[in-house]
Amino acid sequence: MVAQFPWLGDLARVAVLLNPASGVPDAGASGVGGPLLWPTGEPWPECSLGHWVYHRDPLSAAERREWQEMDEARKARARNGTGAHNVVTHEEAAAQERIMNGASALDMRTWERISTRPDPCTDPVAMVPVMQLRACDAPRVFEGRDTDLLQVLWCPNDHDREDVAGGYPYGGPRLELRWRRSAEVGLTPATPQQPRRAADGYIPRPCTLSPVEAPDFPEHDELPEDLRDVVEAWCEDQEWDYHDDFACLDGWKVGGWPSWHLTDLQRITCSGTDCGRRMQLLLTMDSGGDPSLHVGRFGELRVFVCPDDPGHPIALNIQ
Ligand SMILES: [Zn+2]
Ligand SMILES: [Zn+2]
Repeated sequence: MVAQFPWLGDLARVAVLLNPASGVPDAGASGVGGPLLWPTGEPWPECSLGHWVYHRDPLSAAERREWQEMDEARKARARNGTGAHNVVTHEEAAAQERIMNGASALDMRTWERISTRPDPCTDPVAMVPVMQLRACDAPRVFEGRDTDLLQVLWCPNDHDREDVAGGYPYGGPRLELRWRRSAEVGLTPATPQQPRRAADGYIPRPCTLSPVEAPDFPEHDELPEDLRDVVEAWCEDQEWDYHDDFACLDGWKVGGWPSWHLTDLQRITCSGTDCGRRMQLLLTMDSGGDPSLHVGRFGELRVFVCPDDPGHPIALNIQ
């Protein structure tokens, strides 16, 4: 495909599609959710941030009566033709807001307010291994880094947005990267401890990987303006669909281009001191499939890194 897009030049990146498939990987191999190599004596990472949890708290008898009376009044107005079924008065809206008290939903079978809010962490939570990647399976990722083993771990809970993601709006698992040298002395297979608390969908099922390199192109909005029409016209001519056939490959991948199908294009910039460089996509983790994760609205969690300084903070984004 690269040859067919000579105009795109540097915009063509090579992504490594990871193709996770159910199976427990060897501790020394690339894999998802499995055992990994860990330096003897290095403490297992833990998370001590506050964790968002679901709370259900029942309405009082008086609140419930008030809510039901408002419902009845609204239905009566609809029957009498003095108002549409779903129209609430200003007074009713204010009363409902007071009863909801900041909760996001009301369960009308159990009459409970449902809300999520952070619980202070009283007992740190063990992080879980999400992925281990060896340089032989994705050499480009390790270019310029004096390492050949990448480990991705996360705290399998929701967090306050201020605490994770390098300043971008995201409140999911807090993620850490560990870049290592596999020849390091004392790396031994480690079976991680179970986290004390984990939200549904944040514990990946063990998978082996079958990495394959593939050319990946940026989303339409990310193309230089003078190229957009050229590319569109060429695709139309050849009966290709640029986005479906060439851009932002789906699934678990290393490198390549991020798609922006839920939001407009966001230029993720580095929060490192005096940096501000546009960050590059390192890793995309997808919901569903064999790893059986559920991130965002069954979407993709993407990890961005600074192209200049591997020591700068990572950024996370969900689509
Ligand atoms: Zn945490
Ligand atoms: Zn930077």
